Amino acid sequence: MLRPICVIQVSTPAGKPGQRRATPSVMPMKKTLLFTFAFIVGFSARAATPPNIVLIFSDDHAYQAISAYGDARKLIETPNIDRLARQGMRFDRCLVTNSICGPSRATILTGKYNHLNGFVNNTNTQFDGSQPTFPQILQKAGYQTAMIGKWHLNSDPTGFDFWQILPGQGIYYNPPMIRMGKTVATKGYVTDIVGDLSLEWLKNRDKTKPFLLMSQHKAPHREWSPALRHLDFDGDRVYPEPSTLFDTYVGRGAAERDQDMTIEKTFTDLDAKLVAPPGLSPEQRTAWDAYYEPRNAKFRAAKLTGPDLLRWRYQRYLHDYLATVKALDENVGRVLDYLDKEGLAENTVVIYASDQGFYLGEHGWFDKRWIFEESVRTPLIVRWPGVTKPGTATAALVSNLDFAETFLDAAGLPQPADMQGRSLKPLLAGQTPTDWRTAFYYQYFEYPTPHRVRPHYGVITDRFKLVRFEGVGEDYWELFDLARDPNEMKSVYGESSYADITAELKQQLTRLRRELKVPEVIPASWYGNPPGTAKGAKQKAKAASAEKKP
Ligand code: CA
Repeated sequence: MLRPICVIQVSTPAGKPGQRRATPSVMPMKKTLLFTFAFIVGFSARAATPPNIVLIFSDDHAYQAISAYGDARKLIETPNIDRLARQGMRFDRCLVTNSICGPSRATILTGKYNHLNGFVNNTNTQFDGSQPTFPQILQKAGYQTAMIGKWHLNSDPTGFDFWQILPGQGIYYNPPMIRMGKTVATKGYVTDIVGDLSLEWLKNRDKTKPFLLMSQHKAPHREWSPALRHLDFDGDRVYPEPSTLFDTYVGRGAAERDQDMTIEKTFTDLDAKLVAPPGLSPEQRTAWDAYYEPRNAKFRAAKLTGPDLLRWRYQRYLHDYLATVKALDENVGRVLDYLDKEGLAENTVVIYASDQGFYLGEHGWFDKRWIFEESVRTPLIVRWPGVTKPGTATAALVSNLDFAETFLDAAGLPQPADMQGRSLKPLLAGQTPTDWRTAFYYQYFEYPTPHRVRPHYGVITDRFKLVRFEGVGEDYWELFDLARDPNEMKSVYGESSYADITAELKQQLTRLRRELKVPEVIPASWYGNPPGTAKGAKQKAKAASAEKKP
């Protein structure tokens, strides 16, 4: 296959402009422009092509809902995502720095934690698109770049030759979109539209340049509205329940008890499809009613309460969520088919990932946010012909923090020294470096809305998780031993047999916070703007109005 070319950096040491020397593996951002020149000259001279990069990215896609990850409940078959896994590498422990939508996206773009890239929560922050991001660097180096679908950073994308995004969260049916700054109407189902636009851009791209395509889906985000063709996809299957569906949070602290994200208490009529979602045309509404109404009538007549009501909601939730995954998987297949048909697959790195994990009823929850496993672990599958051995997997601790540097490395470009992740290329080539990270730092800020999960931070290793809840209510520690307690049901913090490991983890946490430049004190504004405050109301109105246009 064609590989990224070797280049010569035009170095500028003080007083000696233009002096040439060999390229180091890491180079500060200020050299990038000169480097870019060298890169372009280099690749036209050698007629070699750096690999294309296709990031197919979803929102809230739990690894439990990808068959390649092998969940015990066998919830769904995802043949197209599995096809990528068969042809590439599956990452079994890809951890996000902050388990919510916008902050994860900001980390991916910048290769930095949210306390440095500024996008700390979904509520009152706007992404500063003037800071360096990997798409900007690729674009300057000669890549043709496109961003299609869910952006969710309260700003216009930067670093893209073409962009068409959903405003805010976007809606599932006939969603308004923003195309290069102008609001446009669309018809159809959002996942198919993102697939269509991605293919249209691929077909019409400048075929003389390598490309970056970010194809970013809304699905399977709440309120989990299926494509109409998938309404009856599971034939009213009864899904196995997770063992922790009726969790009472004994053995853990106030934060776990105080949250507002249970299927029992937080689930709305919209979540349960007892009312219709926005955007349906009259014809679509008829098809929607034909599926849901008879089932809803039966539910209303049954007047379920207590555990029976929770069980019914769990079944409805799984049906809807998994149906949105069906359309997602189909659209992954369409992009893979196009790359095959055009002969592009051999020189294209394809990445499938979600912005974080998600609860599918574990602990009685939906949503994410926590440092706990179903939330913090996101699916990551990478196909890179010629580099990655097909059908491989790794349990190395990797992160969405590493994506930017991986993409730059794939393009043969240097990685800015202030990015905080590390290229995954050695792992993809089957060689985990001996100094690869063994401890990972996590931090979550957004509180109290929308789900009253208290701010917390912590350190994660292959076996342990030390968590500090701080800033809201009582401050306290928790420690989980994943080898003995994989479902994270009982904190062992303070138990004498864990004293040594606790001390060691606290040292790791202090080291990571220092190295990652985490501020000691978190400004109150980083929690977001609660409803009832002027800023909170303004933000909510702005988001609602954006979704209704045009
Ligand atoms: Ca998300």
